[in-house]
Amino acid sequence: MSEDKVIVANRGLVRADFNFWVGRYLDKFYDNLENKKVIGNKCTKCGAVFVPPRKVCGECNVVIPLEENWVDLPDTGTVVNYTITPYRINDRTLRKAKNLLLGMVQIDGSNTSIVYRLLDLEPSEVKIGMKVKIDWAEKPKGDPSDIKGFVKV
Ligand SMILES: [Zn+2]
Repeated sequence: MSEDKVIVANRGLVRADFNFWVGRYLDKFYDNLENKKVIGNKCTKCGAVFVPPRKVCGECNVVIPLEENWVDLPDTGTVVNYTITPYRINDRTLRKAKNLLLGMVQIDGSNTSIVYRLLDLEPSEVKIGMKVKIDWAEKPKGDPSDIKGFVKV
């Protein structure tokens, strides 16, 4: 003899809010962004400064200790390259009708660059080597969006 069972199935979208962990090095980096501060970490062997911070120097293959070698950096930098794209930086599936100006910016005092939007600039105004500074989000929350982009100094 079989027993009747009721199975309930709901169709629809389920909203799931969650945070993901970016690792201990980036965690520290984003905690500082929340206070509108830029930090990097320095290779113990070659002295290269990384923004965002890294666990291992790719050049020396040396592990940089988590609790040491942090460097306070300014919110200014130099455009080392740029491009114009219809893609949003954090969502390649979403095309925008309007082109975005993206820059690779090397924060002053660091040896690497980060990619962000170049704001309030026309493509014809952008030059490799030009000085820029961070345009901070009004209410930083400890993630990449704390930096809205870079503006001309
Ligand atoms: Zn190194």
